[in-house]
Amino acid sequence: MTLTFVRRPPGLQFGGLDVRQLADRAGRTPFFAYDRSAIDIRVRELRNLLPAGMHLHYSIKANPMPAVIHHLAQRVDGFDVASAQEMALALDAGTAPDAIGFAGPGKSHDDLRRAVASGINVHVESETQLRLVTALGWELGVQPSVAIRVNPDFQVGHSGMRMGGGAAPFGVDVDQVPALLRELEAREVALAGFHVFWGSQCLHAATIIKAQRQSADLILRLASGVPRPLRFVNLGGGFGIPYFPGETPLDVKAVCEAMQDWLPPLCERLPGTTPILELGRYLVGEAGIYVCRVIDRKVSRGRTFVVTDGGLHHHLAASGNFGQVLRRNFPVVIGNRPDGVPRERCHVVGCLCTPLDRLADEVELPEAHIGDFVVIMQSGAYGRSASPVRFLSHPEPVEMLV
Ligand SMILES: *Cc1c(COP(=O)(O)O)cnc(C)c1O
Repeated sequence: MTLTFVRRPPGLQFGGLDVRQLADRAGRTPFFAYDRSAIDIRVRELRNLLPAGMHLHYSIKANPMPAVIHHLAQRVDGFDVASAQEMALALDAGTAPDAIGFAGPGKSHDDLRRAVASGINVHVESETQLRLVTALGWELGVQPSVAIRVNPDFQVGHSGMRMGGGAAPFGVDVDQVPALLRELEAREVALAGFHVFWGSQCLHAATIIKAQRQSADLILRLASGVPRPLRFVNLGGGFGIPYFPGETPLDVKAVCEAMQDWLPPLCERLPGTTPILELGRYLVGEAGIYVCRVIDRKVSRGRTFVVTDGGLHHHLAASGNFGQVLRRNFPVVIGNRPDGVPRERCHVVGCLCTPLDRLADEVELPEAHIGDFVVIMQSGAYGRSASPVRFLSHPEPVEMLV
């Protein structure tokens, strides 16, 4: 069984509105629309499959729109943040500081000070960070909550973006963990937990299952060197969503069922420790669309170009310039004719003066006319916030949660 509610056409509707109604609501194009009911369905279906006791965190960097965060605050157990602004967004949504984890390879003194002062869990990724955090605890008169982010000693295949297994700026190598534990002891700070993050955008259930087992084993090995009980262990996430032709949705049920093998032994060995799964795009990615308008069409040397008022300045990922090796098309629909039959092969481009500004290459679409809406699906994560919105100084896209 797979959980997916997208690939929505025919009859494209978001938050009960069609694309024209969404455009009226937005007031202008381009815009992003995120469907709260789609987010709800995704979270509910996932929670029904997760074993009892597994906490679910949302990784704010996937989509930091405040309305999305407020919406999710009622539905997940915590947030993972990576900057002072993300910390503030999580706290503003009413989340308890001890349900917020702060990770990142380059945490500034100011960011750490805020995290320690507000009681957020700091996932230290170096000895420097550990020293700073404990010193700030002294200075501020609070016991800092320190977790160690570990650079795993295993590597996974099939993952869109690997983040462990070799040399990495993220986390602390497994063999350096004992030295950090000694340092914490010397500073009389109890370790709050471990954080293992092995990768991202994985659609292959067996790979995730293996990585989770290995993470659990690694955590047990490391925890045996810790004198006091851990409050939590963050096992990473990595659940992907299908973006490109030929990709199939992740079999989440298989992943959750396999948790029954490794989670109970982990909880037995670490009584009172909360296991955490952290997900970003899986929760919001399929719940969002990017909508721009056709402002021109032209033919050059036999090829048809559909020119829109959108582009990579709003949606870098769809242009293929956000870490894609081979450029492939996100799913594209002519929003005002979602049931239209493909009639022409064209290139959908943005409005920027760079050949990088492509939204879809050689795509089969119903003939797109000036004024039509081009909808890019799978745009709820790593859209606006992962794009160079200042490039060429066009207006920012509207964002709305519907
Ligand atoms: C980015 C990130 C995530 C979220 O990744 P997704 O692919 O959006 O699920 C989770 N954890 C950490 C540590 C990250 O850096």
